[in-house]
Amino acid sequence: MQKPAAPRHGPARRAALGALAALWLASAPALADAPSGLVPLPCGEAGPLRPADPVYCRKARHYVTPAAREALLRAAERVARERPGAVVRYMEASWPRGVRPMPPHRSHGDGRQIDLATFYEDRAGRALDRPPPAPNVRLLRGYGAYEPPQRETERVCAGGPASAPDPPAARGWRMDAARTQALIDALLAERSVRRIFLEPHLKRRLGYASDSRIRFAGCAAARHDDHLHVDFR
Ligand SMILES: [Zn+2]
Repeated sequence: MQKPAAPRHGPARRAALGALAALWLASAPALADAPSGLVPLPCGEAGPLRPADPVYCRKARHYVTPAAREALLRAAERVARERPGAVVRYMEASWPRGVRPMPPHRSHGDGRQIDLATFYEDRAGRALDRPPPAPNVRLLRGYGAYEPPQRETERVCAGGPASAPDPPAARGWRMDAARTQALIDALLAERSVRRIFLEPHLKRRLGYASDSRIRFAGCAAARHDDHLHVDFR
């Protein structure tokens, strides 16, 4: 049996479809903004601020307040200027509904929090363009590639999520201190940044011992030597 021929669209119908497509394209950015007033971060593989994994956008966990988006884009542009080729990778921000908390986090959800990956390099000092996968457990990209303390005495937690095991000593990567510092400096230059959670050993190692905006999240929170948790005003 012959397949029925596809209906041919007349010029009027084509014009109507074209107008509809144009309308949809024009309205797409507005539709992407949530009724809560939160706005999405860039999802593409271009520009200085990108997701650490497409899953954060697919699951609509990439919403922030307009002020936080502005600050994040400005900070990422500054890092890219100072460290050419550096791309700031984000993980969990907020869902579009704007309600806190957003599980499994104790906060997040109202657009004023975001997790940013620290920067990494290989053992020869070559920059990695995104965080390596967690070596011990199945976690979403950007979480779990911990940079361990350099001395045992620097460990402050004897239990809880913040004492999750270190990655294997034979791993092929380490934190890129210079680019991570550039990111922290760029964030601290933003008035809307209220505080940043970082493990105490990295706070000292990276030179922020006297900066009260860099805080320890506590032993009941996740480790913060794989990512920075940023709180906005
Ligand atoms: Zn967080």
